[in-house]
Amino acid sequence: MKRTKFAAAFGALAFVWMLHPNPAVAAIEPIIFENLDNLPADHIRIVLDGQEIPMETKPQIIDGRTYVPLRAVSEGMGLMVEWNEASRTITATNEESTILLTLDSKEAMVNAQAVALDAPLCILDGRVLAPLRFLQENLGYRVVWNGEARLILMSRQDIGEWRYSYFEMTEPYREVEALYINGEKTARIRFNGKYHDAEVAWRLEGYEGTYPFREYERKYIGDVKTPETRYTGTNRTQMVSIQGILIANKTYSLPEAYAPGEHPAAREAFNIMQADAQAAGLSIYVASGYRDYRLQTLIYNRNSALYGQSRTDTFSARPGHSEHQTGMAFDLNTISGSFGKSKEGEWVRDNGHRYGFIIRYPEGKEQLTGYQYEPWHIRYLGIEMATKVYESGLCLEEYFGIPSAYAS
Ligand SMILES: [Zn+2]
Repeated sequence: MKRTKFAAAFGALAFVWMLHPNPAVAAIEPIIFENLDNLPADHIRIVLDGQEIPMETKPQIIDGRTYVPLRAVSEGMGLMVEWNEASRTITATNEESTILLTLDSKEAMVNAQAVALDAPLCILDGRVLAPLRFLQENLGYRVVWNGEARLILMSRQDIGEWRYSYFEMTEPYREVEALYINGEKTARIRFNGKYHDAEVAWRLEGYEGTYPFREYERKYIGDVKTPETRYTGTNRTQMVSIQGILIANKTYSLPEAYAPGEHPAAREAFNIMQADAQAAGLSIYVASGYRDYRLQTLIYNRNSALYGQSRTDTFSARPGHSEHQTGMAFDLNTISGSFGKSKEGEWVRDNGHRYGFIIRYPEGKEQLTGYQYEPWHIRYLGIEMATKVYESGLCLEEYFGIPSAYAS
């Protein structure tokens, strides 16, 4: 019945546009191929105008070309096929076209016109196979190849088919199909009546790149990522360096386990600075240098007990936030504001950068550094960076454009 209907539409005029597709004619409603299983298959199937063509010999891919059983497919296309043993020729005819193919020849006759085949016919299991492309082009067929399902869809009209697209992210996880026209996905969707068997799972995804480096996980439904994330409650510790400078301030902390000890280059630079100061008749010495996390905890807790937390936070770092834990900070001489007005304090302020040091918490920058003016606290940055920061007149937070404030 399908074939009769097809043959009736197979007029001479129709044949002309199929050879030379005309956009005005191509606007005909697509033929929708329903009930395709779209499942991975172990052999190639051909569905013509929605009907699967029964084939005892399956289509083959030979040298990158798709070969199809000539008789089965031609008959599916409404052609009469005759085999002439003596001339080793095959004639396929319908009302308005005649195709003549000869075994071992790369030339065919289509309506008495010679047409080249890009590959000759071949024989498998006693059946003749022809390149699909030849039939498609000379009979004006569209072909859609669905690789995973190994389905070849053919029609002289536009080919419409519904393929599984996604499932809804809320229960009951309905499956949605998208309409494909000639193998291209369109915006049209429909529910196919099936429900996706979806399992909800939270999978660890990573952690935020800014302090406090909160770890988060993402919701998956089945294997599909959703936009939903949540915090696991764990904060990662991550050290932040900018232009090679390890940052420790109220925003950026160091892990508890980070215990590098005193930095050898910082100590070496201090020793040179101290010798030069001595030559100028000044005495500078380290009153407090490297402190590990545990020691900073003791100091901070003692200060908090004495002065209360909010006052302590203006001069004493919380554990993990102290520059002394980097091994590159030194408190010099007297830990007192008066050091800034001493000859030593002035000399260090004006010359420290030449040895790689800056006054880390300068006067007037309290809101930016998060600390009161500490003329005694120097930080080793290396000569180049210390000189740049010194000459900029900025504190380190300003220079790098970073905050220094506790999260809570
Ligand atoms: Zn200090």
